[in-house]
Amino acid sequence: MTSLTIEIEKAKHSKISSVDFNNLDFGRVFTDHMLECDYKDGKWQNPKIVPYQPITLDPSAKIFHYGQSIFEGMKAYKDANDDIFLFRPIDNFKRLNISAKRLAMPELPEAFFMDGLKELLKLEKDWIPKSDGSALYIRPFMFASGSGFHASPADAYKFVIAFAPSGAYFSGKVKVLIEEKYSRSANGGVGFAKAGGNYAGQFYPTQLAKDKGYQQVIWTDDNSHEYIEEAGAMNIFVRINDTLMTVPTSDRILDGITRKSIISIAEDLGIDVDVRKIKVSELIEASENGSLKEIFGAGTAAVVSPISGFGYKGKDYQLPEIENTFGELLKKHITDIQTNKSEDKFGWRVKV
Ligand SMILES: *Cc1c(COP(=O)(O)O)cnc(C)c1O
Repeated sequence: MTSLTIEIEKAKHSKISSVDFNNLDFGRVFTDHMLECDYKDGKWQNPKIVPYQPITLDPSAKIFHYGQSIFEGMKAYKDANDDIFLFRPIDNFKRLNISAKRLAMPELPEAFFMDGLKELLKLEKDWIPKSDGSALYIRPFMFASGSGFHASPADAYKFVIAFAPSGAYFSGKVKVLIEEKYSRSANGGVGFAKAGGNYAGQFYPTQLAKDKGYQQVIWTDDNSHEYIEEAGAMNIFVRINDTLMTVPTSDRILDGITRKSIISIAEDLGIDVDVRKIKVSELIEASENGSLKEIFGAGTAAVVSPISGFGYKGKDYQLPEIENTFGELLKKHITDIQTNKSEDKFGWRVKV
């Protein structure tokens, strides 16, 4: 791995003193700098760190017309000694390139991602919150900056990393609607990629669910709508009796880093884990006979997002209020590793 020269242009003034770190809305406050890297003439140019600022694009830039746009979501954590840690960052890097390939975008060399991220983190270290549950949210993204109305892959791209300090993410329990009509993704599609367009397609069905009094949608398979796939933009976990279940990843389901970490931790704790397809009818049956104990979403932002109940074919099913949930237990284990409060036997933590 070659180390890169990264040019740094510092911001004239820091915004940090104007930020209320006790009241951070998710993803609305950004740090002083960002990393920018252009792909042109068939190669990635040297990355630069510049003051956080708007990006100017030609109106014919292909991102606007053909949607070549991908991103990642990760976090940096600070421990009691002000040491900075990332959680499985190579997995985010690899997934960015998996997404890039599917959207016919150029893959990024590892050093551009890792060295660029570490350099930016060192510059913005004062922005990493330390209070319980808070972290610096990291948003690496890539889009087609090349211009022209021709419907073909762009000849120029931009890779950017921006940071947003984020407070503890208490979304509370959410009531979800099991989707019977719309699909998030389809066989042979782009559901496994972290592509912006996947989110665009989710907003309308999610809005319809909200109008009916639900906060989120449980996506089902596009073919039969009989199998559950994801919980909004999170992977889904179900606990029936004392077995923790999640569905296998596929070209319709995003390979979440939180999901696979939860599987490893649960297995290590001796929890019975079953990775298999889950039918909606099984959930209904388990809810009716009392064996359905928990459903939760898993993803970087909230880590674990518990579900209070679900709606299906006009009927609501309530989940029981139980103590010592798998969701809370696994969230604690994963965040303790992320924030350097516990031993990291899996080797996931990366010190910056
Ligand atoms: C990002 C994302 C997830 C969660 O992935 P993590 O790596 O755990 O953050 C799950 N599903 C979808 C659709 C996503 O976009």
